[in-house]
Amino acid sequence: MSLKLHNTLGRELQAFEPIDPDSVRLYSCGPTVYNYAHIGNLRAYVFVDVLRRTLEYFDYRVQHVMNITDVGHLSDDGDHGEDKLVRRSRESGNSVWDIAAYYTEAFFRHTTQLNIRSPHHAPRATDHIPEMITLIQRLEEKGYTYTAGGNVYYDISRFPRYGALAGLDLSSLKAGARVDVDSNKRNPGDFVLWFTRSKFEKQAMVWDSPWGRGYPGWHIECSAMSMKYLGEQLDIHCGGVDHISVHHTNEIAQAEAVTGKQYVKYWLHNEFLVMDRGKMSKSEGGFLTLDTLTERGYEALDYRYFCLLAHYRSELRFSFDALDAARSARRRIVSRIRTRMSEAGSDFPPGDPDQTPVSDTSPAQRYLAAFASDLEDDLNTPRAVAQLWGLLKDDDVPAAEALAAALRMDDVLGIGLASVQREENTSVPAEVLSLVQERQAARTERDFARADQIRDTVREMGYVIVDNAGGPEVKRHDA
Ligand code: AMP
Ligand code: ZN
Repeated sequence: MSLKLHNTLGRELQAFEPIDPDSVRLYSCGPTVYNYAHIGNLRAYVFVDVLRRTLEYFDYRVQHVMNITDVGHLSDDGDHGEDKLVRRSRESGNSVWDIAAYYTEAFFRHTTQLNIRSPHHAPRATDHIPEMITLIQRLEEKGYTYTAGGNVYYDISRFPRYGALAGLDLSSLKAGARVDVDSNKRNPGDFVLWFTRSKFEKQAMVWDSPWGRGYPGWHIECSAMSMKYLGEQLDIHCGGVDHISVHHTNEIAQAEAVTGKQYVKYWLHNEFLVMDRGKMSKSEGGFLTLDTLTERGYEALDYRYFCLLAHYRSELRFSFDALDAARSARRRIVSRIRTRMSEAGSDFPPGDPDQTPVSDTSPAQRYLAAFASDLEDDLNTPRAVAQLWGLLKDDDVPAAEALAAALRMDDVLGIGLASVQREENTSVPAEVLSLVQERQAARTERDFARADQIRDTVREMGYVIVDNAGGPEVKRHDA
């Protein structure tokens, strides 16, 4: 096994070698819980899940931590604007605590629907204020901070490697390349570790600190919580590409200044999901949530499958047409699994796929080997999915072995194959019945194009719809 991952630090593919061979310390930036995660955010969490499942597939023991940002993330990733939760609280009339609790719950509901494995720890920023204060004190003792205008700032000129992750040029920052309205800063790249004098009057969440009553900057939370739960050095840290130049750059500056050690060995960043109109943004409203998709009749796992069809480092353009195509492909996979189940009969007992070994000489091994090497190549999920298709289409692979191998693949892909039920000979699967109903609704609305499209999908799944006077009847098309 030779897993290679693209490290943003150095911008190259590197062989993955964890610091401690027995376990992998993985940290991913979590949601800012002032609103629902949009489907772009969810792409980031599907990516981390595929990474984690891949590591587990290759028998690494993974310790995964993801923070919940419930304080300190301003409407700009730098130090401008207003705390996102506070603004939401003012607009909605609910307390910041209620908002955070509500959207945290919604977040985990969505990640569960997407088959995303829960992190081993999901610490909330507001529960770790003492750890953040201690970290700021350690930075202060080492001379990395200054106080101005009531806030504590990180002085980036004290950290010579500042900006290495993003390839930032410090001299251009000093020359004022970034417009900054905070006149307290000595350097425009400096950032706030602790606010006491906020620009906004009604900051609901404040804590006592050596610098006065106030609240932490956003960046300090990830350094404090990652080091608390995973130690001073992490193997992998993930997030979206938007975090490279500010958030992760600042996390490195904080952690490495205090420990003197390399904070993270491999930085992995997912590219964005974009809409036809451009970037999908949580703060600008008008974004799509997983609930929007399920209300429109998609299954959450159709969206997961859609995400897998692009490499995580490629921008992924969302459209409902593309999601439709992903849904019908996933349905064809499910239907093929069912067919193979009836062919396998009692040779394929349902249950733990790991209990159904694929013999070394099985033709399924070729697909499993190719699947593993596609994942080893920086998590190439589009190619890994193609191996699943190859396996399912190949009639030379005995049905029971094809099923066992498909379920092994689903350990990483997570598209719900383990829960496909064996079909009774006489009954029509629930997905087909719901499509038949959807087609009836389309016909009632005189949307015949959609109705025809659904009929074709149903046919691809192995069923025909016959329109009788009393209503539609559905049969297997070989029946
Ligand atoms: P936030 O809740 O805004 O802190 O973002 C949560 C995660 O989603 C971060 O890792 C972001 O980098 C990532 N992210 C934000 N927007 C997108 C997008 N449109 N596509 C993919 N990832 C995104
Ligand atoms: Zn973070």
